[in-house]
Amino acid sequence: MDKFGGRYGCLFCHATKDHMNSGISKEDRNMMSLREDYKQFVAHGSHEETSKDISRNVVREPMVNIDIDHVSIPCLHISLGVFKKLYDLLESDAHNLDRKIYKLRQSNPSEELNNFEITIAKKTALNEACREKINKLQIDISNMEDNMPISQLLKSTALTTKLQAIRELEKSIEKDDFKVGAGPLTAAMDNVLKKHKVDRQAYHGKAFIGNHVHKCCKINIISHLIAACQSTFDEQSMDLPIGIAKDLQLELDTMKDKYIPLFSKYSIVEQKINHTRSLTTEEIKEIDNNIHDFVGEFRKYGHSITPKMHMLEKHVVPTLKRWQIGLGLLSEQGGEQIHAAFNRQARSVYGVQSEMRKMISIMRNHLTLTSPQINSKVVKPKKRLRKDCTNSVEE
Ligand SMILES: [Zn+2]
Repeated sequence: MDKFGGRYGCLFCHATKDHMNSGISKEDRNMMSLREDYKQFVAHGSHEETSKDISRNVVREPMVNIDIDHVSIPCLHISLGVFKKLYDLLESDAHNLDRKIYKLRQSNPSEELNNFEITIAKKTALNEACREKINKLQIDISNMEDNMPISQLLKSTALTTKLQAIRELEKSIEKDDFKVGAGPLTAAMDNVLKKHKVDRQAYHGKAFIGNHVHKCCKINIISHLIAACQSTFDEQSMDLPIGIAKDLQLELDTMKDKYIPLFSKYSIVEQKINHTRSLTTEEIKEIDNNIHDFVGEFRKYGHSITPKMHMLEKHVVPTLKRWQIGLGLLSEQGGEQIHAAFNRQARSVYGVQSEMRKMISIMRNHLTLTSPQINSKVVKPKKRLRKDCTNSVEE
């Protein structure tokens, strides 16, 4: 398949981005349809850029001959992706509130306001306007890419003008911007994560770790995050005019109304699917309702449905019905563990020069450690008693 975010971004079915957004189900992919799509791709010159028009984003032959309904649903990555999406949206709203507080302080300077805050407020207002324009242009471009055949797209002057406009706007954004996490509310949210020992990977777009997402859902982290935002806001709004502080409080209340149900509903789904227990038909029916409840709530706000959210909505329940167990036993987590084990092995053969010898050594070690046949023949070391030791010495 071409890039994950392509027009046909789902491995399991033929839903496009538009179908995902409106929740429309499409027919499933299978080995026959994949091969047929690949044939079309080759017949049209194997151009990856046009694969969305020609081969529903299929650009390679299947690597393994296993039908799609036997492919494990990427449960771990669905969790990571959906939770991150929710957290990013919450953080972005908190960041907007942070910006407003600074902007207001600029127009209602108090004695406590320092030069740093004034400078930040000025830059923020300018950069915010630029970013909004860039966002609009990017949405336009993405729609054009999705809906126009590549031959037209390449000739389109509208596309070139939009790309040029984005480059210019990016240049005009000042470098020392008021970054997400620099304001009081987002900083308070970061502290809540730290307090609960939840890490975000600084070099991977602030992604979460699987176990930490599960932990966040277990303790319903949203209640802690919102409480931290409220107490920080109370401190920050003390020197703001009462009317304005009330307006901002209303915005914070809107945030609560939006994110508390969203996170809570997702927490229920996450805990009900991400385990290794068996499931009854009744339980699966309930999970189906929980998933629709969550995705319906998310759709209410007009956010686009990502491929991971689409998989949660359309493909998790059929998988549960088929295997009748939690996704913890089916998902890619075992694969991820093997990946980590191979990485550990690779460190021990770092000094070996030949790539082939390195690989053989890793595979041999792995086989020795995991093969039951080999393990059964390995003689376990006997625990020697002190008495045995003295005897053997005397002999
Ligand atoms: Zn699908």
